[in-house]
Amino acid sequence: MLLTPGPTPVPEFIRKAMSELTIHHRTKEFEIIFKNTRKLLLEILNMPEAIVLASTGTGAMEACVTNLTHKKALIINSGKFGQRFTKICESFNIAHTEIKNEWHTAVKVENVTEIIKQDKDIDAIYIQICESAGGLKHPYEQIAQEVKKLNKNIMIIADGITAIGVEKINSANLDAIITGSQKALMLPPGLSMIGLSNEAVQKINQKSSGYYLNLASELKKQKTNTTAYTAATTLIIGLEKILEHMKNIGFESIYKKTKLRASATRKALSSIGFDIYPKVPANAMTTVYTEHSNEIRKILKNKYNVSIAGGQDHLKGLILRINHMGLVEDFEASWIVNAIELTLDELKIRTFDGQANKIFSSIMFKGEI
Ligand SMILES: *Cc1c(COP(=O)(O)O)cnc(C)c1O
Repeated sequence: MLLTPGPTPVPEFIRKAMSELTIHHRTKEFEIIFKNTRKLLLEILNMPEAIVLASTGTGAMEACVTNLTHKKALIINSGKFGQRFTKICESFNIAHTEIKNEWHTAVKVENVTEIIKQDKDIDAIYIQICESAGGLKHPYEQIAQEVKKLNKNIMIIADGITAIGVEKINSANLDAIITGSQKALMLPPGLSMIGLSNEAVQKINQKSSGYYLNLASELKKQKTNTTAYTAATTLIIGLEKILEHMKNIGFESIYKKTKLRASATRKALSSIGFDIYPKVPANAMTTVYTEHSNEIRKILKNKYNVSIAGGQDHLKGLILRINHMGLVEDFEASWIVNAIELTLDELKIRTFDGQANKIFSSIMFKGEI
């Protein structure tokens, strides 16, 4: 059972759809698929424009940095993925400054507005909606709103790789939303997508940047339902199918279920003694703090057949991250809290009494809090 916060398991009907013979990308047949995928993508992203790239999420992050920063970037860094925006700026010699916090601490809105007021060079802000390094939620909505009041020309770029497909995004004041294939969209890795505002499109076209990750040339092609270079046809076929499926279930109902699953998991694990790691948890995953992370994950994998994630860098061996993204089955979500409780018993940390699953089930299935 794969319950890591990305990659997530690829559903069988997607694997089957992607096993059909490859079609040529410059055909009417593929254009129709691309057109429908684009339409669905604009809907889930809730943005006026969208671009699909044959790259992992980091490629879309890089494309946003190089295409949307003309002067100086402000980066919100509360973890590995925030830090990645800084590293991208460094590698391109793009002027930047960052607000750095510990991985469990969200950025403060006032911190952002203060810097914007002082540093008039900043023309783009980069933020994660959910910083996956610690499962932390940033107040992206308030930041976007306050920044636009001060200067509507500052671009707000949200990395929503662990937020699109998880929760309803308020895109009203956002200029770019990034997502990727292998998280809540349950596809194999290799595709990234960027939703764009009309203002972002204008800025991209003002000063064209880069070659492969040139968003101006890519957008020009994609508006005509084709791609600038060979399309990742197989993955795009998968993307069309998963978006259709999610729409049929209802995006809202997926968001509601994910939120309930996240809340039931957090309460179940708190009830058996775990501390929730992020001060503001996102619904994409549950992150708990524990010095027994490595031992717990080892037993979970070997004895109970579940794979969950640990921490990276200074959080190595100190946290557990359990995925809630995608179409996680109820029995999987309930099994993981039970398996963790059994593991604590095995490690002689806490005697098993079924508490975690009891709390999980009463919230998930009986609507109790
Ligand atoms: C997974 C992830 C990424 C992208 O990583 P890739 O390995 O390049 O797909 C970026 N940001 C966040 C918040 C993520 O969770």
